[in-house]
Amino acid sequence: MKQINEITEFITNAGKVFITTHVRPDADAIGSSLALFHFFQINGVESKIVLPNEPAEYYNWFPGVENTIIYDKEKEKALKELNNSDLIIVVDFSQLSRNGELGKKISKLETKKIVIDHHPEPELTFDAYYWDTSFCAAAEAVFEVLKAIDTQSIKDLNIATCLYAALIADSGSFSFPAVTSQTHFIAAELIESGINHSWIDKQIFKKFSDKRLYFWGHCLKDKLKLHHNGLLAIISISKNDFTEWEVTYPDTENLVNMPMMIENVMVSVLIIEKDDKIKLSFRSKGEIAVNSIARDYFSGGGHKNAAGGDSEKNLLETEMLIIEKLNDLL
Ligand code: 5GP
Ligand code: MN
Repeated sequence: MKQINEITEFITNAGKVFITTHVRPDADAIGSSLALFHFFQINGVESKIVLPNEPAEYYNWFPGVENTIIYDKEKEKALKELNNSDLIIVVDFSQLSRNGELGKKISKLETKKIVIDHHPEPELTFDAYYWDTSFCAAAEAVFEVLKAIDTQSIKDLNIATCLYAALIADSGSFSFPAVTSQTHFIAAELIESGINHSWIDKQIFKKFSDKRLYFWGHCLKDKLKLHHNGLLAIISISKNDFTEWEVTYPDTENLVNMPMMIENVMVSVLIIEKDDKIKLSFRSKGEIAVNSIARDYFSGGGHKNAAGGDSEKNLLETEMLIIEKLNDLL
């Protein structure tokens, strides 16, 4: 589903664009959305980004992020924009259920909807797709779409900065298996646009508060538990931990990757008590497909080596279920 001509035609002919991305937007979601937004601004096309919920504060540096509308906080305004738009662009997700309540509203509309994404199993209800799981970030796909419309567009500093940030976040600084030579070619072109790649890297990976770093230290020293002969690592975080260590949910982003540094660990799971739910993050190495575990038992999904989901059980029960279900996979 990589028909770039169809997608570029929709984008070129758009009059008023509504851009949205998945819940708990990460750097790829935000960067990819904002790159599109800047492109429309340059071309004098009105566009609005509506994020289902508020992004973490450490994403506040993204150029243009102050223009986003947060659906959770400004429903009326967001829905007005949605109803006034003539094109809906869905980026970094392709199942409208990943968009929460906003996704339900979108699915009821007749407005043309297009998707730019890299997640497995896209919903088949869109009018055009630029989608492939071989993209290591949605930003790779956005880059190709924008470049196909106007080769100069990716020279814009804001666009290039947003895309590069998204790319390094979803590729783990070009380290994940999904990285291809194309990822590097795109990065090279973005660097040629004049971005400050070192500064962007700092914004994405090296902007911890002291409390966040201490909390990670605590999780790695006291909470990390190994199972199945050291193949499975689990960190489980309760609401009390957040209070005690004076940290918040966004401070846990990327923590799930840390146990993957242990040579023997094949699967890492982060279990977090959040509001009235348990949120799960899975990472795996090689052929172990954690998205199937996330989909089958935790109403979630994602990529083969990086997935997420929810649990209705309590922390301990969730942990036991993960240990049991991963027994077969490992
Ligand atoms: P993370 O662990 O970083 O939150 O998410 C890893 C990957 O799994 C991302 O690609 C994300 O889109 C996907 N993912 C995370 N949570 C969920 C979920 O609840 N449902 C689905 N379908 N995918 C998820
Ligand atoms: Mn992504």
